[in-house]
Amino acid sequence: MFYHSVLVIGGGLAGLRATLEARRFGDVAVLSLVPPFRSHSGAAQGGINAALGNHPEGKDDSWERHAFDTVKGSDYLADQDAVEIMCREAPERVFEMEHWGTPFSRTAEGKIAQRPFGGGGFPRTCYAADETGHVLLHTLYEQAIKARLTVYEERQVLSLVIEDGACRGVIALNIVTGEVEAFAAESVIMATGGYGRLYSRTTNSLINSGLGMALAYWAGAPLKDMEFVQFHPTTLYGTNILITEGARGEGAYLLNNRGERFMKDYAPEAMELAPRDIVARAMETEIEQGRGLYDAYLLLDMRHLGKERILERLPTIRDIAINFAGVDPVSEPIPIQPGQHYSMGGIDCDARGQTPLPGLYAAGECACVSVHGANRLGGNSLLETLAFGQRAGEAAGRYAQDRGKRNPGDTPLAHGVALKAAEEKLDGLIKWEGRENPHGLRQELTELMMDKVGIFRNKEDLSQALAQVGALKVRFQQTSIRYKGKTYNLDLARTLELEGMLDLAEAIVAGALKREESRGSHFRRDFPQRDDARFLHHTLARYTPQGLALGEKDVTITRWPPEARRY
Ligand SMILES: Cc1cc2nc3c(=O)[nH]c(=O)nc-3n(C[C@H](O)[C@H](O)[C@H](O)COP(=O)(O)OP(=O)(O)OC[C@H]3O[C@@H](n4cnc5c(N)ncnc54)[C@H](O)[C@@H]3O)c2cc1C
Repeated sequence: MFYHSVLVIGGGLAGLRATLEARRFGDVAVLSLVPPFRSHSGAAQGGINAALGNHPEGKDDSWERHAFDTVKGSDYLADQDAVEIMCREAPERVFEMEHWGTPFSRTAEGKIAQRPFGGGGFPRTCYAADETGHVLLHTLYEQAIKARLTVYEERQVLSLVIEDGACRGVIALNIVTGEVEAFAAESVIMATGGYGRLYSRTTNSLINSGLGMALAYWAGAPLKDMEFVQFHPTTLYGTNILITEGARGEGAYLLNNRGERFMKDYAPEAMELAPRDIVARAMETEIEQGRGLYDAYLLLDMRHLGKERILERLPTIRDIAINFAGVDPVSEPIPIQPGQHYSMGGIDCDARGQTPLPGLYAAGECACVSVHGANRLGGNSLLETLAFGQRAGEAAGRYAQDRGKRNPGDTPLAHGVALKAAEEKLDGLIKWEGRENPHGLRQELTELMMDKVGIFRNKEDLSQALAQVGALKVRFQQTSIRYKGKTYNLDLARTLELEGMLDLAEAIVAGALKREESRGSHFRRDFPQRDDARFLHHTLARYTPQGLALGEKDVTITRWPPEARRY
């Protein structure tokens, strides 16, 4: 058995930032499905928000304005105390990355450059061309190497170990050897990212199955606000690779098949830079009403920006458009459609990352603090990973230090039991000889989520989706894995993810069915208005032996009472 004072599950931005903090209090190790620098954080393009006031039009920006934009963007579902913390600490987190070596793009005076992003009143998104996530992740990884951090790569965490009502470690599959391993710790931080792959059209990496959220849920930590799923307006038609909001931040237009900038009919002031939920709905409406191209996509036009600016600010976007759609944005508009992009919901936790389960912390996209409420603003997620990664690292580190002093040398018995249970489960899965192919089931699930639990929702579709997810769960018991070997059994790893995906899907659909209103990304055609009297609360989903149980939790409002949201 391995032992570390704190275990961090996930090597993306949230996990690495948490690790660097927690190591101030003791010995820390990271477990990750992939080498840390392959995490989805590295795919982030557009930038990270902080009210620095470096842009000529952003001089009057302040953390309070950033906080207000975030709260309004969230459709008043974010917890305002947490939003205030994030926006106040944003400049410190960004400067820290700068000092560690992140090569941000620069203004003429040599300051960190900032661009406008959707739903932000000021240009406050700091960027490094269109590969901001890549450079941030590599900067943190360098710091991790410098600190000689222990990283266990190619480990798929399968379960959390609970003893006396507290989380005391994890059980993981070593994908290389096929062995199941036990890791003991005083505290555990989940930083496993989002579940984008639950949807057939998504910008997310193949590894974003959401398994980490499911592990916390099975272990007794509730999931919060799962019905809020973000669809990004501009994903490349055909592959759904992201075309950053930074393109619109630089001035690109959205056009329909008549060549009109249709956003004038939906958000006359903010136009293309309205928040993502509003732009994605506008696009879906244009396509539904016959103003799309081939009834499938719309156009993102950046020709007027000129070749020089495109090459300087959006070089990766140009490469993606040329390589994956055969279109050079310097001379032609890019075909785009909305696709799943981000999960606002996640493991319920507070602004120190503490979940209701003692010893278990969460940070980054798998967590729901909540700072994004019903709709996240672009550039706020990279910020969240650093702001709350740091805070969760500190809280989990302190907790582990305290606990270690109180229980020196105590090795929890629960690990042996959990290890055995995991080994038996894997053996069972490998031996199952059912009729169902897990990959086929996964495809059915992702298409179902896209068709019935997408941008526009209604009671009938959601009820059907709930019944169909239930049926898929039954069929999951009949799956058969074709490759029975131990080494690199990705067939097995994917099947384990599918079990988690089915339960997350159920939580998303059940929450969406119960929320009979429209708020942020959750739009019910049968209830098109926001209903603060009935639904100004978070949704909690708990895992019980009898199945999913839904509950509610108050929203913290500090200084911005809910008002109508107009752009
Ligand atoms: C294409 C794209 C572009 C984006 N652009 C922006 C942007 O410009 N600005 C912005 O603010 N946000 C952006 N986002 C969102 C933002 O990048 C993510 O929300 C954020 O990076 C998530 O970081 P994370 O550390 O929480 O998780 P991730 O970076 O996804 O890392 C998750 C980690 O968990 C590990 N893991 C997962 N499951 C397991 C398991 N069972 N066992 C062990 N390890 C596991 C993985 O190996 C990985 O290391 C973008 C997202 C995408 C998809």
